[in-house]
Amino acid sequence: MGEPHKTMQLSGWGRMRPEPCRTYRPERLRDCAPVFSDPTPDTLIARGYGRSYGDAAVNAAGVVDMTRLNRMRSFDPVSGILECESGVSLEEIIDAFLPNGFFLPVTPGTKFVTVGGAIANDVHGKNHHCDGTFSRFVRELELLTASSEVLLCSPESNADIFWATVGGIGLTGCILSAKIQLMRVPSAYISVDYHRCANLDAALAAMEERDGAYPYSVAWVDCLAEGNTLGRSVLMHGRHAEPKDLDRRQADRPYAVQTAHKLPVPFNFPGFFLNSWSVQAFNNWFYNKHPDLEHVIVDYDRFFYPLDSILQWNRMYGKRGFVQYQATMPLEHAAGLTKLLEALSASKRASFLAVLKRFGEQGPGLLSYPFKGYTLALDIPNHGDITQFLRDLDRMVLDHGGRLYLAKDACMSRQSFEAAYPRLSEFRAIKERLDPKGRFSSSMARRLGLTVQKEAEHG
Ligand SMILES: Cc1cc2nc3c(=O)[nH]c(=O)nc-3n(C[C@H](O)[C@H](O)[C@H](O)COP(=O)(O)OP(=O)(O)OC[C@H]3O[C@@H](n4cnc5c(N)ncnc54)[C@H](O)[C@@H]3O)c2cc1C
Repeated sequence: MGEPHKTMQLSGWGRMRPEPCRTYRPERLRDCAPVFSDPTPDTLIARGYGRSYGDAAVNAAGVVDMTRLNRMRSFDPVSGILECESGVSLEEIIDAFLPNGFFLPVTPGTKFVTVGGAIANDVHGKNHHCDGTFSRFVRELELLTASSEVLLCSPESNADIFWATVGGIGLTGCILSAKIQLMRVPSAYISVDYHRCANLDAALAAMEERDGAYPYSVAWVDCLAEGNTLGRSVLMHGRHAEPKDLDRRQADRPYAVQTAHKLPVPFNFPGFFLNSWSVQAFNNWFYNKHPDLEHVIVDYDRFFYPLDSILQWNRMYGKRGFVQYQATMPLEHAAGLTKLLEALSASKRASFLAVLKRFGEQGPGLLSYPFKGYTLALDIPNHGDITQFLRDLDRMVLDHGGRLYLAKDACMSRQSFEAAYPRLSEFRAIKERLDPKGRFSSSMARRLGLTVQKEAEHG
């Protein structure tokens, strides 16, 4: 009979190719071991809030929803180290600790992400050029492996497993809990400098010149601009605001922020809602609304998580969903970004959201994504022959020495993946040692040839 479960249609945030998945939802950490040792599902994968865009947390045979495992275990206000279960969300951490002056040292562009998901994709934020990825601040994690052992992993102990688990998209085992270093901040506000750039070259030059002076840097890009204005951007540089930067009302309660009222998207919008006309109108408005300005005080929610105020915004792309395409090119091959933008602009596939960032050095995670270069993330609606279009983009990325991000990917081929991740064989060796029968698997893992045995069994 096995452990209690439900069959649910699951996909990634891009809502492409949903699959009926046998889904388990343990309530307590002690319920995890029976679920993972239940032989009925031949493969399993842990899942957080499903904010990865593609199929990293999708697996028809078995998905383990970790979001009920959201207990904080301990917090040391002197060291700033939080120990929590892996289903705790970044939102829950902020709500609990920001009032006491602590914030996340690295955060992605949504706070609806679990600690387990943040580790398994080794997520990055707007401060990657200064602070690296999430794993830099993970002091230790508990990993439930395929042999039902619970291993304590850290950069000092079981270090090889730690660096395979970080960015390892759930394939080394299930992260049960983690110790994370939080960071003290002077307020809940960010002081932002806006700088408009007339085209991509100007944006890259401005990032190179200015990024070093700010912990946070990101650019919004108009993907429909062409010719001399291709890649016109608004560059946003930020740092945590000091109480002296705040107005009186803010300075009285520097950690109390009225978070934005959340608006839901109640149903799937028609597929034509985000077309090149509506997106161009938005882009013109956004570009014109942001002249060069300095020291604009913005609360953390608006700065880090602008999309979180629209619940289920992924429905705006209609029933067929969308992909997010995130490619990083080495600094010396930034010209590849121009090629990507030209291809996107010529295709008239209106990308509502396009974000550019300059990454810092590569970290030690074996499949960890960021490396020194420019990264461009584009939302692309699913219409026409999207697979062929993406394959054409993949070729450009590979030709320029770039790579795609697994947290966003839904379509990459195994060949492209193998060509772009140089430490893959080290990862495979650890996976093989920890999980020789390929118990931890997902649709992404099979697509990319990361669980070869199961792929062969499933034909
Ligand atoms: C609006 C938006 C903005 C984003 N911005 C960024 C960004 O700026 N930077 C960035 O890096 N990413 C970004 N992302 C991607 C997101 O941060 C990652 O996909 C993150 O991993 C999602 O976490 P999740 O809890 O939803 O995990 P899921 O999407 O549910 O799962 C992600 C992976 O983690 C694994 N996993 C989850 N929990 C566990 C566990 N307990 N043990 C082992 N494995 C586990 C899953 O198997 C899967 O492989 C963004 C996503 C959205 C929707």
